[in-house]
Amino acid sequence: MALKSFVDVASESHFSLENLPFGVFKSRASEARIGVALGDYVVDLSALERAGLFKDLSPETAAATTRDSLNELLALGRPAWRKVRETLQKLLSAETATLRDDETLRERVFHRQSDVVMQLPAKIGNYTDFYSSYHHAYNVGTMLRGPENALMPNWKWLPVAYHGRASSLVVSGTDVRRPQGQNKPPDAGAPLFGATKSLDYELEMAFLIGPGNSLGQPVPVDRALDHIFGFVLMNDWSARDIQAWEYQPLGPFLAKNFCTSISPWVVMLEALEPFRKPLPRQDPEPLPYLRAKNDSTFDIQLEAKLQTAKMKSPHSITQTNFQNLYWSVSQQLAHHTVGGCNLQPGDLLASGTISGETEESRGCMLELTWRGANPLKLPNGETRKWLEDGDTLKITGWCNGDGYRIGFGEVSGKILPAH
Ligand code: CA
Repeated sequence: MALKSFVDVASESHFSLENLPFGVFKSRASEARIGVALGDYVVDLSALERAGLFKDLSPETAAATTRDSLNELLALGRPAWRKVRETLQKLLSAETATLRDDETLRERVFHRQSDVVMQLPAKIGNYTDFYSSYHHAYNVGTMLRGPENALMPNWKWLPVAYHGRASSLVVSGTDVRRPQGQNKPPDAGAPLFGATKSLDYELEMAFLIGPGNSLGQPVPVDRALDHIFGFVLMNDWSARDIQAWEYQPLGPFLAKNFCTSISPWVVMLEALEPFRKPLPRQDPEPLPYLRAKNDSTFDIQLEAKLQTAKMKSPHSITQTNFQNLYWSVSQQLAHHTVGGCNLQPGDLLASGTISGETEESRGCMLELTWRGANPLKLPNGETRKWLEDGDTLKITGWCNGDGYRIGFGEVSGKILPAH
C-alpha cells in the first residue's frame, strides 16, 4: 500500500513518497542547493530549514541540508540520514498540515522539476569502476580470448576493478564529445590517430559513499552497508578501438576517462529495502573477508534506450536487472578497503556493465552487436554497430512496489562530433 502525500504522485512516477531521492539543483538566479524529488516536484531543503521545520534534526544535520552538495550530509552517517528521511516523509504526508495548509510556504519550498537544472549530487573525489557482471565479463572475455579462457583466473575470487577518473564525471543531460586517441587496426603496422570509430555506452549503477574509513582501517564486509548512502544510474562511455590498443597491461585509460555520466537523483538504501533479494550462491566460496551474513542484492529493473537524430522517440536496446551482478556491493566495498585504502564521503563506486544471460540483457553495444559483427536494426530502418554523432543514449531504472515505484529517473547523453 502506497504512502500518501498531499502532493499528487502518479502510481508510475519514479519519485514516490517512499522514494524521496536526494539531489542538488539550481533554480533561476539562485545558488545550488539540496532537494528531494516528489512526483513532478523538487522539495527545497534549505527552504524547509529556514522555515524552522528541521527542529527535530541535530543542528549539524540541519546545517548539512543547506549546503550546495551532499558531502557534509554524507559524512554524518546512517542515523542522521534516516532522521532526515523520516522528517521529510512526515512533513510531506497527507496527514501533516504544516506545509499542506500553508500556500505561501509551499511556494517557497516546491519547484517544478521542469523549472530547475540538476547538478552533480556531490563533489566526487574518487571514482572506482568494478567489473562485477559475470555475463559481461564472460562475453567480453570470449571476444578477446575465446570461450575457454573467457574469465581471468582471479575473476571469481575477487571483485575486479580499476580506479577511474573523477574529474570527468558529469550529470545527466551533459553532451558527450566523441574522443580522439590512438587506435591500431589488426593489419596496420603502426597506430593511427583520430576520433574513435567505436563509441559505446555501458549500462551501470553506482553508489555514493557516506562516512568512509581512515587510511589503514579496512571496513569489514558486515559493516559495509553503513557506508553506502544510496544509488544512481551510470553510463560509462567507452571508446572500444582506443581501449583495445591501450588496455594492456594496466587497464582502461583514455578509452574511459573522457566522460562518465550519472543520474542526478540518489536513491537511498532505505528506499530499496523492500526490493532486497538474496545474493545468488557464489562458487567457489569467497575468502572469509568477503563473506557477509545474509548478503543481498536488489531487484532493480534497468533499461537502455537509443534515439538517433532521425528518430522521433527512443528505442529500447537493453533490458536487464541489478540482480545480474555476481559480487554484492558489500563485497565490493570490503574488497576496496581491505588493503587499507580510505574511502571518503562522496566517493563513487560503480558496478561495471550489468549484462544478463539473454541477448536483450546485454548492457553495451560491444556485446549487443558482438563487436560490430551483428549491427542493431532500429525501427526506422537505420542500423548501428556503435554510437554515431547525434545519437542520444538514455538509461533508466526502477523497482515496482505495491501501488508505487522507487525510480532512479534517467541518465542521458547526446554524442557530439569530435573537435
Ligand atoms: Ca565500466
